[in-house]
Amino acid sequence: MTALAFTPVDDIPKIIQELRATFQSGLTKPLQYRKEQLKGLHNLVAENEAAFREASYLDLHKPPMELMLGEAGMVKQECVDAIKELDNWAKPQKVKGTLLNRLDGPHIRKEPLGMVLIIGAWNYPLNLLLAPAVGAIAAGNTVLLKPSEVAPHTAALITKLLPVYLDQRAYRIINGAAVETTLVLEHKFDHIFYTGSGSIGRIIMAAAAKQLTPVTLELGGKSPVFVAKDTDVALTARRLVWSKFYNCGQTCIAPDYLIVERGIEQELVKQLRATIQEFYQGNPQTSGSYGRIVNNQHYNRLMNVLKRTRGEVVIGGHNDESDLFLHPTIVLNVQPDDALMESELFGPILPIMIVDSMQQGIDHVNKGDQPLALYVFSKNQKTIDHILDNTRSGSVVVNDALTQFVVTSMPFGGTGPSGIGNYHGQRSFDIFSHERGTLIKKQAMEKVNNIRYPPYTEKKLSW
Ligand code: NAD
Repeated sequence: MTALAFTPVDDIPKIIQELRATFQSGLTKPLQYRKEQLKGLHNLVAENEAAFREASYLDLHKPPMELMLGEAGMVKQECVDAIKELDNWAKPQKVKGTLLNRLDGPHIRKEPLGMVLIIGAWNYPLNLLLAPAVGAIAAGNTVLLKPSEVAPHTAALITKLLPVYLDQRAYRIINGAAVETTLVLEHKFDHIFYTGSGSIGRIIMAAAAKQLTPVTLELGGKSPVFVAKDTDVALTARRLVWSKFYNCGQTCIAPDYLIVERGIEQELVKQLRATIQEFYQGNPQTSGSYGRIVNNQHYNRLMNVLKRTRGEVVIGGHNDESDLFLHPTIVLNVQPDDALMESELFGPILPIMIVDSMQQGIDHVNKGDQPLALYVFSKNQKTIDHILDNTRSGSVVVNDALTQFVVTSMPFGGTGPSGIGNYHGQRSFDIFSHERGTLIKKQAMEKVNNIRYPPYTEKKLSW
């Protein structure tokens, strides 16, 4: 497979001008055209799954099952749903009027924004680029895609396939890193949809502000998991091992750390160990069900933070840089000021903080930024309600984790520093649509309007 070729910087303005001209030509507006392109996007994924498997194996050692569940399957489903629902989503929406304008048929037209930019991240390089594109295409925009250069094989494959399946006049890719993206951001877009870290998110938002371009920012955060004393520990361990070590922990909504009520921590560690043994058949490195760290830079970042912990590494320690292999790692007795608690881990390291009460955990979470996700494991409805009622997060799941991502009828996004805006399903269409308030008045009944015209007599005022 070829390495990723960056787009020559001199080509960038021309690509963007062409996309702008295409939008202005009206090509992308007819619903039938949008549906055909969505069908093309669906087929791009469906007809090349073997190639995507190979690419994502080279990028992340991603197990095919994880590609199917978390990426290819979801993008295809989003396309199918959008094609089926598009007439409904796009139809003008009647709204209530007042006495003075009820006859003018007040309604909202759902119109494309124009030319939009989608910037993807490396951890789900297919999904995070193409799932938002479903909404942008469905809404009738022209789209510039900027895949993450950190997953070069997937980016190269999408670059190769896009012109085969989609209309090049309306949908283009620019490849590159910070230099190329910075040049792209000098241009005016009608919306920017970015997925990645908050630090780059701030750069994107600052660049967008210069052009008054609205943004959707899908960022990250330290997503906590509350584990109450009453939980079924074995079941909790299974769901946690799956969700934490899926994609080798490199998931924006992965459980970042556990807040465990004192008394069950030893049993929980025992069950986590047994589950890791079972899921990865005694050896995660040789297992076909366990991924790798994306590159040396991220591997070293994780090893450095691990070296600095004052917690007790109870599972893990068998790591291999030459293979970018980081063993599922559990660290017990982690204090709130530990190195592992400084920022989002984004890797297969799971710190366990022990607390005397769930309230202590709530107080800890509320001292930090609102996380992207929050999880609770408990059988007690009062405990669950108390945690949900007294915390904030982008999304929440009780007695499981990650599964909110595939429920496309729910908003997916952060709050505060974990993101701005949300998408999936119809919301992806809405993000890339302008709600144009519309009144269609008849050239008749002019007398009714006299009340608002000067001269503003006392009589008119008392009406
Ligand atoms: P990344 O390195 O792939 O960067 C994201 C994008 O920003 C890339 O396309 C990259 O080329 C671009 N970029 C990098 N430097 C830039 C610069 N100086 N100017 C403009 N653009 C630049 O991804 P990452 O940031 O390492 O992603 C990991 C983070 O993303 C984590 O915090 C994770 O939680 C978050 N994330 C969030 C979601 C979500 O849906 N909310 C999904 C995945 C990842």
